[in-house]
Amino acid sequence: MANKKFGFLSGLLSMSLLLAACGNNNESAGTGTASDEETKDAGVVNLYTSRHYETDDALFDQFTEETGIEVNVVKGEEDELMERLTREGEATEADLFYTADAGRLHWAKEKGLLQSVESDTLNANVPENYRDVDNQWFGLTKRARIIVYAKDRVQPEDLSTYEALTEEQWNKKVLIRSSDNVYNQSLVASFISLNGADAAKEWAQGIVNNMARDPEGGDRDQAKAVVAGIGDAAVMNTYYFGQLLNSEDAEEVKVAEQLGVFFPNQETTGTHVNVSGAGVTKHAKNKENAIKFLEFLSSEDAQGQFSEANFEYPVNPNVEPAELLASWGEFKAQDLNLSELGKYNADALKLMNEAGWK
Ligand code: FE
Repeated sequence: MANKKFGFLSGLLSMSLLLAACGNNNESAGTGTASDEETKDAGVVNLYTSRHYETDDALFDQFTEETGIEVNVVKGEEDELMERLTREGEATEADLFYTADAGRLHWAKEKGLLQSVESDTLNANVPENYRDVDNQWFGLTKRARIIVYAKDRVQPEDLSTYEALTEEQWNKKVLIRSSDNVYNQSLVASFISLNGADAAKEWAQGIVNNMARDPEGGDRDQAKAVVAGIGDAAVMNTYYFGQLLNSEDAEEVKVAEQLGVFFPNQETTGTHVNVSGAGVTKHAKNKENAIKFLEFLSSEDAQGQFSEANFEYPVNPNVEPAELLASWGEFKAQDLNLSELGKYNADALKLMNEAGWK
């Protein structure tokens, strides 16, 4: 925590240094034709984010270059940041909360940490099912929770649905991370919404029965375990697969090359999708700037960069996915308003615990 606070303070410090530096040079990088006075007037936007991607940092810099609005970033673990927002209340510096998973964004809303915003640009750039019903949060990047399989042992024809992974042929062959993880909670929440709680519980029970090992590690570790022969198929988010394939670590590239990508439930309810997204905080002091920032992140330019550099699907319907994502083919996604993932989160976690999902 001390570290993160320091990060924020040093962000403020470097901002003042930057402004000081601009004092002697009207043509300093990033401010274009704007005068120093205008740069100062453009103000700041303060962001709490649990994302940790270089793409994000590059986009924040670009936003500052285009608008003169300085972006101060506090990075932290999602629950820690939500706890901090709660504790700080009206005194918070944060104008925006930015995190992965609609389930988590919904909690932030439920805790009263966010506020509704009206923006025709956001309404146009972010489809209705990827934003909060009261516009308290907006999805900015999309990911699918897919099945990856060992190409030397599994044929794509052996796969069909998430439900089929609970069948006898997959006994001790399925890899998936723990029930602590919000991505799996949201996956189960989607099943509750689409198929009812009984069916969702039956699925969780079936997956626990077929696990190749007790859950450990993140999504990428499940993929590695498939290649290591611990199991035959793993459930993971698309961008993690993209990251493995483009890793600087040759071993990780080798792992990804031995795996096939499968979009489940194409003949039925569709593949589970989720978003990373952000909302303006309840006590934002720079609300207009925060809205401008969200509009920028939902723009065609920014959406293209999320996809090219971080292997996430654009939410903006005018933007095509990056080449790698396009190479995996188009797919049918679950027809679900993502607010449902938050609505059923507690029920999902409860039934996963009851099923013995560690
Ligand atoms: Fe993630």
